[in-house]
Amino acid sequence: MNLADSEGLSRQLLAAGYLEAPDMEQADIAILNTCVVRQASEDKVYSKLHELRGWKGPGRTIALTGCLVGKEGDELKQRFPHLDAVVPIGEYGSFLTELGTRYDWTLGEPLPVAGRTGISHYVNVIQGCDHNCTFCIVPRVRGREVHVPLRQVLEECGRAVADGAREVVLLGQNVDDYRDPEGSGGLAALVREVEKLEGLRRVRFMTSHPQDLETELLEVMAASTKVAHELQLPVQSGDDSVLKRMARGYQVRHYRAIVEKARRLMPDLGLYTDVIVGFPGETEEMFLNTRRLLEEIEFDVVHLAQYSPRPGTFAAGRWPDDVSADEKRRRINELLALQRQIAGRRTARWVGRTAEVLVEGTDGLGRPYGRNRQGKRVIVKQSRVQPGEMVQVLIEEATPGQLAGRMAA
Ligand code: SF4
Repeated sequence: MNLADSEGLSRQLLAAGYLEAPDMEQADIAILNTCVVRQASEDKVYSKLHELRGWKGPGRTIALTGCLVGKEGDELKQRFPHLDAVVPIGEYGSFLTELGTRYDWTLGEPLPVAGRTGISHYVNVIQGCDHNCTFCIVPRVRGREVHVPLRQVLEECGRAVADGAREVVLLGQNVDDYRDPEGSGGLAALVREVEKLEGLRRVRFMTSHPQDLETELLEVMAASTKVAHELQLPVQSGDDSVLKRMARGYQVRHYRAIVEKARRLMPDLGLYTDVIVGFPGETEEMFLNTRRLLEEIEFDVVHLAQYSPRPGTFAAGRWPDDVSADEKRRRINELLALQRQIAGRRTARWVGRTAEVLVEGTDGLGRPYGRNRQGKRVIVKQSRVQPGEMVQVLIEEATPGQLAGRMAA
């Protein structure tokens, strides 16, 4: 979502006549787009702000936008006097007006609508989140949900495709909640409309929520030739009492039922999840329930995180962070080792099969790479295929993280 916000701001700056600087020395303006989902991300912002103190000089502007604005607001300016502007997410108009009073600019080249790769276009269809998971800072920093009208999303995607994008990624903290404010329906309707765009090869969406994911959406995915067979469906814990204290709004059996239904409709589904270990009060038995769920479901990818209390969240104010750092490390390492084995088994199944790959670019060794329909990265060996091409690749090698193969005959 931050990537989509950054691109949106870039487009506005370029449309207003600013140019992207090749390096910091030639730049006049530095804008930090910030993330606060974990303490480590927030700390990175502060260290970057300290670093920029040496860069700041006459004629140079430092601005900050993103989630840290929602969390810290104007206090940031007091703490970092060299910071010129604090810009709330999406409210870029007055910032551009302010910049206009500082700089004498001439009209620059417009940035293509498509993203930096030119192939994937990220579009935020919902800003904010109406859930209140007790560990999460997002509702506080990004506010309540605001849904982008379906026709506006379609217009943006249409421009991106005309500009060379071949994949559209529909984004929302909880994208399943999407409702067109002008009444054309939910996410299933949006996906159905977007996939009609001529020239578009693939549609993806993220992130889903087990409480809100509708069967209709799974049916649209299964019936479509363009929509990725990929679900980003965070489970967070495999223990009902932990899920309850997290206020996730579902139990493990509900989650299991969704996965069963999705796999019945799409046996090749790529399933991605998030898990937090060491949530306050998580006992060994509760942790083992999560471990058992990972063994049972066999996700393709598990994004693992150790719980870290975020000031301002319900959990941080209510419960002590009572699982020690050593214990959290042990639990996360145990799950990492387990998941590495599972991911290895999941990718090994592809060897000898043909995958449909949308080429995104070339890696450091000059080999084209892209993603299969299930979201897994694929290296295309000994081939000159170009970004944007959809190719059939016979998979020859698999590691837990990626696949590799040659163009199928
Ligand atoms: S649904 Fe996601 S973004 Fe919303 S509060 Fe829960 S964890 Fe945070």
